[in-house]
Amino acid sequence: MNIHAGNSPASSSLAAPSGIIFTRRKALRSGALLVAGLTVAKAAVAPPRAQRVVIVGGGIGGLCCAYELMERGHDVTLLEASRRTGGHVKTIRDPLPDGLYADVGAEHFTNPGYDDYRRYVEKFDLPVLPWARRQQMYKRIDGRWFTEEQLADKAVLGGFGFNAREIDYIREHGFRELPTLYLAPYLAKFRDEYQPFGVGLDECDHLPLGDVLADAGLSAAAVRFLSAQRSRPNEKPAAGSSALFRIWQAAIVKMRGLPVFKREVFHLKGGNQRLPDAFAERLGERVRRNCEATAIHRGDTSVTVRFKQADAEHTLTADHAVLCVSPLVLPRIQITPAWPEAKAYALQNTSMNMQSRVLLVTRDAFWKEDVPSINLETADPKMYFVCETASEVPGPRRLLMGSGSPAQTPEETIAAFRKFYPGKKPDTIEQCIVHQWWKEEPLAFGCERNPFPFGQLAKIWPHLIEPVGRIHFAGAAYDNLPWGQDAATRSANRVARQIHAS
Ligand SMILES: Cc1cc2nc3c(=O)[nH]c(=O)nc-3n(C[C@H](O)[C@H](O)[C@H](O)COP(=O)(O)OP(=O)(O)OC[C@H]3O[C@@H](n4cnc5c(N)ncnc54)[C@H](O)[C@@H]3O)c2cc1C
Repeated sequence: MNIHAGNSPASSSLAAPSGIIFTRRKALRSGALLVAGLTVAKAAVAPPRAQRVVIVGGGIGGLCCAYELMERGHDVTLLEASRRTGGHVKTIRDPLPDGLYADVGAEHFTNPGYDDYRRYVEKFDLPVLPWARRQQMYKRIDGRWFTEEQLADKAVLGGFGFNAREIDYIREHGFRELPTLYLAPYLAKFRDEYQPFGVGLDECDHLPLGDVLADAGLSAAAVRFLSAQRSRPNEKPAAGSSALFRIWQAAIVKMRGLPVFKREVFHLKGGNQRLPDAFAERLGERVRRNCEATAIHRGDTSVTVRFKQADAEHTLTADHAVLCVSPLVLPRIQITPAWPEAKAYALQNTSMNMQSRVLLVTRDAFWKEDVPSINLETADPKMYFVCETASEVPGPRRLLMGSGSPAQTPEETIAAFRKFYPGKKPDTIEQCIVHQWWKEEPLAFGCERNPFPFGQLAKIWPHLIEPVGRIHFAGAAYDNLPWGQDAATRSANRVARQIHAS
């Protein structure tokens, strides 16, 4: 389900849906280099005057921004509306049995990728586990299951209707890398990953990808798997994402040297909440829980933030405020004077997706020797992927994880699993948990940004991430790629640098 702050239509994404203890040094070597670079930069630029900064929102974005500002010598207070920090990065143990644990929000990070995120993992010495959830995936297409080997088979690919060039490309690079075959000529045009305009493709903001690739020789299968349908003559394109947006996103991935499909993924042993917890611990009393910001007055020389704590109203005056909450919950905060028009438009028309976390506790690993892999891509909205999590926890009970629609029941989830499960053995499901975010944490609303629809990139970007006077924006919604924890930590660093330099 796509939930919108404004009236913009929902749109689909180009991207495919996504133990031994790994040595942290090896996993994070590139991060260590970044740490070294940052230390030098910080030592060189001491703050001329400590700024007083109020951060609104204690998810990973807000905590990271507060931490970076504190490290640079500024005076920060972080207001978090709920009684816990971490927002969408949340690990649960209760009511799971046998020491099992699960991330009900952000489940993984990648390497390469997630540079800022991994820098903190290294710095705080958090234990990393590689996660095989994207290895040997078993994918359901049109109700049939395919192994990765089958999806590289000439006859299977021909059966889908791919042409000879596409088949050769897929066989060489993999099924999920197909977008690069057609987008490659456009990607090299981009120079600055935060600037999609001015590279000769501005018009593509108003077109679907199919129109831009009209003469590229796509087969019907490529049109389908790339969601590259063309518009009809004399008809405005139906709802969908802007071709410029899609090309730009692919260009950023290329600029960062990442594959289209990030197969090497990791999580923190004991749960990803360990990172926000590490920030919160270091910030200490600067973090104020149960404090919901309700109004912000933006003045020329200061910002005043009103907040509620135990039904009493308080105010804080600061040099800067950083809003680290989803655009979907921002309307709950009264802003005076109102946002400038371009900012208001960008915030109101940014849509975010919502998903529930689905967990199945099983008596044993019933799927072993029954299916080629339990890394399932199901195409079922009630559990559109399945994988095993917390596999390092000893004992016969196992934990399967997936993502579902924002509101669904455990009974519906089990029924969906039993319908799509490709094996022959009966399952041994003992317990099903559905973590519905909108119910459990109503102010952590909207988890990752949806693609920008036709004609909207120019209206929304870069206004979405730009500061308004002394008010700045950080968090998953406010960076160029909508990759949860990566976007949150990147934008947090960007804002901390801006405030420090001011
Ligand atoms: C099921 C699921 C799977 C995901 N998988 C991944 C993944 O594998 N990898 C990845 O990187 N990301 C993933 N994500 C996305 C990622 O978790 C989020 O994008 C990221 O954690 C958002 O962080 P944030 O700090 O921007 O915002 P949030 O986590 O939403 O934090 C915002 C905080 O602000 C608080 N708040 C709101 N309003 C106010 C107010 N008025 N005053 C004070 N506080 C307020 C909220 O209570 C909340 O704590 C997933 C998310 C979900 C739900």
